[in-house]
Amino acid sequence: MLKSEALDVQKVRSDFPILLRKVHGKRLVYLDNAATTQKPRQVIDALVDYYSRINSNVHRSVHTLGEEATAAYEGSREKVARFVGAGPRELVFVRGTTEASNLVRFAWGEKFVRKGDTVVTTIMEHHSNIVPWQLLARRVGANLKFVGLLRDGTLDLDEFDAALKEAPSLVAVTHCSNVLGTINDVRSICSKARTAGATTFVDGAQAVPHMPVNVAEIGCDFYAFSGHKMLGPTGIGALVGRKDLLAAMEPFQGGGEMIREVFLDHATWNDVPYKFEAGTVNIADSIGLGAAVDYLTAIGMDRVRSHEMRLVKYSLETLAGVKGLTHFGPTDPSRKGGVISFNLADVHPHDLATILDDDGVAVRAGHHCAQPLMNWLGVAATCRASFHVYNSTDDVDALKSSLERARGIFRA
Ligand code: PLP
Repeated sequence: MLKSEALDVQKVRSDFPILLRKVHGKRLVYLDNAATTQKPRQVIDALVDYYSRINSNVHRSVHTLGEEATAAYEGSREKVARFVGAGPRELVFVRGTTEASNLVRFAWGEKFVRKGDTVVTTIMEHHSNIVPWQLLARRVGANLKFVGLLRDGTLDLDEFDAALKEAPSLVAVTHCSNVLGTINDVRSICSKARTAGATTFVDGAQAVPHMPVNVAEIGCDFYAFSGHKMLGPTGIGALVGRKDLLAAMEPFQGGGEMIREVFLDHATWNDVPYKFEAGTVNIADSIGLGAAVDYLTAIGMDRVRSHEMRLVKYSLETLAGVKGLTHFGPTDPSRKGGVISFNLADVHPHDLATILDDDGVAVRAGHHCAQPLMNWLGVAATCRASFHVYNSTDDVDALKSSLERARGIFRA
């Protein structure tokens, strides 16, 4: 199959066992992919194969199983790093995006951010790209500055430029909003931030699973993402960092494997990335993430992105026909990830999501771990439908007809 061809959704769907299950007797219409994605058989098989055949600790044992487990773990690191245009020594395995920002907060922030410094982030961030910087600012006495949005849900770049005049030590920004779907021009943002002397942290949790990403082209210092949002297992993700920065940083956690030598009064550190991978690492899930990367690579990330752009366009057109529906975020599919946030008249999003669930339609309702953004939107919560490779226009049609049923129930 050529990568320019449209994605064969039926073929893709047959790889995902969970999509066969029924919910309340209805076909499962899974539209909660921004929260977590389903796993293809290839990823599940990789986990079963690891535990059935080679389970052993890594970097320690000379026996056959130990060597095989180490080769599989490091092989996965190479694969995942290549997937985002990085080298294996630039990739630290972590639990996910949240752990990555906390690692940077402790290991980089507490060493390099000083009293009176400015840290710049935006109001469209997930809490995991806000709260660690609040904690850092409080600890070292830095100031946290938030860049606002324009009415269309895109970043106010004039405000961003003005914030850079304060010569921030850190700029932390999302590549793609988990609520609005806004895709930020992180290449230009990082370039400007770097000229202003700032270190840059990009939250790629909603980008790496859905579009081609190359950290070298973006030119960021740190880039974070989560395996479970890209068809991989939970509990595994990555922090990609510039080699010299990772080398200059303090360790994150202390324990086995992150050391070179330990004395009674001090210790010295292992090389990067092992300096940041204390204790027994998440071997099985890192191998599962490697399998997810293989799966996405075989489809082609350009094709994943085109597929989701088509679904976004179709959804915006289709849902525009639902009376009382308000959509939040940009409407140009080329500037929007596969995320549609909406409310229906004055129906509470939780009530709406419960009605949708009765029809087998799984969406997220709530603040999406983005309360500052909810405040800016002037709502307490929204419903959110989000896509991945196994979603089709049939799923959007199912969402629409369930919304119409909900309108009838609530007389919205
Ligand atoms: N950043 C964004 C934009 C997200 O959507 C999420 C999860 O929803 C996170 C960060 C946090 O990811 P995790 O919970 O995998 O650490």
